Amino acid sequence: MLRPHLVALILLISTLSSQAETGNEQDINLPNIGDSTGTLISPIQEQQLGRAFMRSVRQQTSISQDPEIRDYIDAIGKRLGSVSDSPTYPFHFFIVMNPAINAFAGPGGYIGVHSGLILATESESELASVIAHEIAHVTQRHLYQAFEDSKRLSLPTAAATLAALLIGSQSPEAGQAAIMAIQAGSVQHQINFTRDNEKEADSIGMQTLARSNYDPHSMPLFFEKLQQSSRFYGKGPPEFLRTHPVTSARIADTRSRSEKYGYRQVTDSIDYLLVKAKLLVLSDKNSRNTIKLFKKRLTRGTSEQKDVAQYGLALAFHKNEEFSNAIPLFRKLVEKNPQQPHYVTALAAALFEGGEHKKSLATYKSAIEHFPALLSIRQSYGEALLRSGQAKKAQQQFLVIDRYILTSPELYRLIARTYKLTGEAAQSHRHLAESYYLNGRINEAIRQLTLAQKAAKNDFYLLTQIEERLDLFLKIRKMMRKG
Ligand SMILES: [Zn+2]
Repeated sequence: MLRPHLVALILLISTLSSQAETGNEQDINLPNIGDSTGTLISPIQEQQLGRAFMRSVRQQTSISQDPEIRDYIDAIGKRLGSVSDSPTYPFHFFIVMNPAINAFAGPGGYIGVHSGLILATESESELASVIAHEIAHVTQRHLYQAFEDSKRLSLPTAAATLAALLIGSQSPEAGQAAIMAIQAGSVQHQINFTRDNEKEADSIGMQTLARSNYDPHSMPLFFEKLQQSSRFYGKGPPEFLRTHPVTSARIADTRSRSEKYGYRQVTDSIDYLLVKAKLLVLSDKNSRNTIKLFKKRLTRGTSEQKDVAQYGLALAFHKNEEFSNAIPLFRKLVEKNPQQPHYVTALAAALFEGGEHKKSLATYKSAIEHFPALLSIRQSYGEALLRSGQAKKAQQQFLVIDRYILTSPELYRLIARTYKLTGEAAQSHRHLAESYYLNGRINEAIRQLTLAQKAAKNDFYLLTQIEERLDLFLKIRKMMRKG
């Protein structure tokens, strides 16, 4: 049987590929999208939809720009992805700064985890179990089965709608066409993975979890906690349960499956503990409370746990602009743990914000010599250089990162800023255009490219590149307007 959403998906893909507007597509005999052979959407088309989805996500919600947090979620995600059923699949992981307990897998392997979910976990294995579950939804291609939609959506509208449904937002930025589609009920109101989908994601996710040496028991444990939290607190179930319904039967099922793996003592990585402390500071609106909380923890647990509490406390002081309290705490941590990059980066950042620019830059510089492969330090160093007016040096750091991370809007914005300061206007506008584009702001992107075009009038090579991009952006805007 030809299911309506199959038609919608192949249409939106063909719209992008060929811009064809002819009818009769419904008569085409389509292969079943759910048969996990990947025959309906080619990998390239799936990546196109994924990138458009990601642009909508950035437009609709706030993604953590902190380079250390980005590197952490990327590392844990890649560790799991590399032992999943599709080890070579290009997964992308990111953290949404939102207190709701939620995680989701979009098209093209874009997996988002809310900061609220990370803070709700009590072990790294619990966090890994959610990511492994999401990875399994991707490898089993469940999203394409769940996104039932009989409307003919263009690619940008489908991407925006998927983003709105998965994040649970209907923000004004969701895109007019997406909101209208949702409100008019012409697309399904929710993404509902079926019970079979959930069961499969649990069982395959658990295999991944076990292969990557996390504790499989943490999966039923965490899901049970989610279920209980909705029962006891009465403020509605966590967002995660909206798209991934957890039943007692499912928990029992997962528990009995986890028994097969035997017991395993897994220690949380220091990175997990430090990132959690940082997220707590970043998401707390009252730093006085955070300061109190970490002060209490200072005397508890292992030496490592005390260090983490000290780090959290110092970060909270930093956030509260109490640099004379923060700097000595960071300094002690660096002396005790010279091999821990988080501490030295935090020290350099506090020195900078505290007005000690020279000391800060020197600290960053020695940190890079110590940890040359860590892009997060380079980014923070580059930003400090930029803010000290050393645009050329900052640019060198950013361009090293750019070789590895090609799609960060934040990085493009920073590179644009360095070009502005070195007087290269065309390059500046061009990079700013990419930043806006990745954030889903197509009008601003087009405006910047038009400015770049004017500024590059004597550079034929650059002009050609700009005009090619402009062409594409104009086409995308046209499609977005059609909805
Ligand atoms: Zn699920």
